[in-house]
Amino acid sequence: MYRPDHRFRARSLARRSEYNDTQSGPAKPRPTKRFPVPARTRPRANRTRRARLSHHPPQIETIDFASGRWQHSAMLEVKAVPALSDNYIWIVASDDSQQVAVVDPGEAAPVAAYLAENGLEVGAYLITHHHGDHVGGLKSLLADHPAPVYGPATEADRIGHIDHRVAGGDRLTLDFIGTTFEVLDVPGHTLGHIAYVTDGVLLAGDALFRAGCGRVFEGTHDQMQTSLARLRALPDATRVYGGHEYTQKNLAFAQAVEPDSKAIQEAIEEVDRLRAAGQPSLPGTLAEERLINPFLRWDDEGVRATASQRAGRELTDPGDIFGVLRDWKDAS
Ligand SMILES: [Zn+2]
Repeated sequence: MYRPDHRFRARSLARRSEYNDTQSGPAKPRPTKRFPVPARTRPRANRTRRARLSHHPPQIETIDFASGRWQHSAMLEVKAVPALSDNYIWIVASDDSQQVAVVDPGEAAPVAAYLAENGLEVGAYLITHHHGDHVGGLKSLLADHPAPVYGPATEADRIGHIDHRVAGGDRLTLDFIGTTFEVLDVPGHTLGHIAYVTDGVLLAGDALFRAGCGRVFEGTHDQMQTSLARLRALPDATRVYGGHEYTQKNLAFAQAVEPDSKAIQEAIEEVDRLRAAGQPSLPGTLAEERLINPFLRWDDEGVRATASQRAGRELTDPGDIFGVLRDWKDAS
């Protein structure tokens, strides 16, 4: 019972944004994908609003990350549902909709409880990568809360349940929250890892955490550093919703790399207060991340010197500097 619906489709950019363009030379247009959506996920009550939001200006060529201007710039609320030992499942909502997007449901029960408590339904699932702690709850949730599932094209077969295979440069419009997300390729933690970004909100999965980043399981250090450079280029005010509560350990490492950093010391105090009060330490902003996250600071002279000292040789290549820091953190 699937039928095409133009209101749930990823739009390809006529020209791929520089943040996704991993190839040299002129960018090539990508074919528009049409994603079928189960009719039952679209309640009647929202149709007027959906019809209004379904209009898009034609020929959007780029997204202006620098100014933060987007086609849809809804005020989104993003709530944390803690799951497993230290995962966050992010729930993306807008205040005039009962439907939400569920990001990386590693576990079903806490999401189901959150939906029931708040009288919400699922409008879509967004998946960043194939790891079980990000997709383990999907099958069970779909049984009671069917909705389209968006996920990384190259990991879709491994994940299962993916209706819409997306990759860097795709755009997906979620009309139930009045928002268009762009998909960014961020390989490194896994090879097919993607992130979803819209005005002020980055759903980063295990690519970027507060004050840290994911381990490089499948890709190379160069790949991961390139992915992080892509995320670092987003606007200052972008809030980073990563998949794990690792911030205190991350900040301890950041302080080992930069013992004299006032910004890191202030972040440690703030995060200790938040955690003592039982609050998530996420999200941070990209403006702050550029100051406190050693994995985004390969071009800081002090960080470069410290990494060089650790390596026992002069480092200049960003991928090498990142790699030394990543190995150091993995060993600590
Ligand atoms: Zn992972």
